[in-house]
Amino acid sequence: MAIGFLRPTKRVIDCPAIYKNIKSEFKHIKDGAEIFAVVKANGYGHGAVKVAEVARQAGATGFCVSLLDEAVELRKSGITEPIIVLGVVDPIFTNILVEYDISCAAVSMEWLEMAAASLEAGHGERLKIHVKIDSGMGRLGLRTADEMKEVVAFLEKHKEFEIEGLFTHFAKADSKDTSYVDLQKERFEEALTIFPDDIRYIHTANSATALWHDHWRSNLIRLGASMYGINPSGSELASPYELKQAMSVVTEVVQMKLVPAGESLSYGATYQTTEDEWIATLPIGYADGLLRSFQGFKLLLDGKRVPIVGRICMDQCMIRLDKPVPIGTIVTIFGEDEESHEMISFQEGAEYIGTINYELPCILSERVPLVYK
Ligand code: PLP
Repeated sequence: MAIGFLRPTKRVIDCPAIYKNIKSEFKHIKDGAEIFAVVKANGYGHGAVKVAEVARQAGATGFCVSLLDEAVELRKSGITEPIIVLGVVDPIFTNILVEYDISCAAVSMEWLEMAAASLEAGHGERLKIHVKIDSGMGRLGLRTADEMKEVVAFLEKHKEFEIEGLFTHFAKADSKDTSYVDLQKERFEEALTIFPDDIRYIHTANSATALWHDHWRSNLIRLGASMYGINPSGSELASPYELKQAMSVVTEVVQMKLVPAGESLSYGATYQTTEDEWIATLPIGYADGLLRSFQGFKLLLDGKRVPIVGRICMDQCMIRLDKPVPIGTIVTIFGEDEESHEMISFQEGAEYIGTINYELPCILSERVPLVYK
């Protein structure tokens, strides 16, 4: 894929912000738990390999991803720490898991049986697994005590598996109402009585759990959103420490024009100028991840908010200004405007289009280059 290095639209990643967010989390947890940085989906759009390097410098001792390919990418980049694939790996790929020393989720008896068959075809290697308990997320993992007992009995016999971890995932740790977390805790507590008690990693905490709950029983935290400076609750709960958004999306004005009153702008001619209006064209559109539903959203130019007018095109959009600005004037779509320090959070953008803050950095296109500072 061609990346737009020769175009002024960029995703700027503030590495010291990621570093600081992780350090703040270490201070907050106090109890010596390890942090594994969650860098799936190309590090929530921030660049998995670079984020992993920064996270390691900040004290992260392992990494979590969702795809086997993402884990292999990290290994090939020189990451030697533990890596867990949290999603389901096709058991036919146990050879790749073993070759790259990658741990993975074991989600069901069926998965274990298929993985055992696949390992049998190999050379006696051992596979590191993290057994997943579905305590209420309803997505992956073992639900009943009977299933768990069956898995424990199976693993006692099948020494080709090393149980490196036992884990669960909370569905509502980002809410003021803690009753669902309490229910999931209770269920996981029961699971712990069924599994051996010498498992190295017990992990339940994502960012929200780490921020707002005692991450009881966890000696490992799977830290994603808050590392990137994204509040997992949106705006429902205040973070106990400052979360600094690590990504900014910036571009530059590429054309400036005075459009007379009564003229239309962009596809569908949905916007009409009511007076002579200064219109600037920006080289960013929905193919870059600036969805059409952002029409009307206000961006930052010289510290002031300026609206997107007319429909957002595939590669471009227009903004309305009070006065002309030079070609090359910087416009901030998300993040901090370096001059004025005004800020557009992903949360603000998410509220505007009716989604969650996690989604916005993830949907930015790979064709928008990542630049690190
Ligand atoms: N653990 C699991 C199983 C996940 O699926 C995720 C992300 O969705 C995380 C941890 C990280 O969550 P967060 O980004 O909220 O910290």
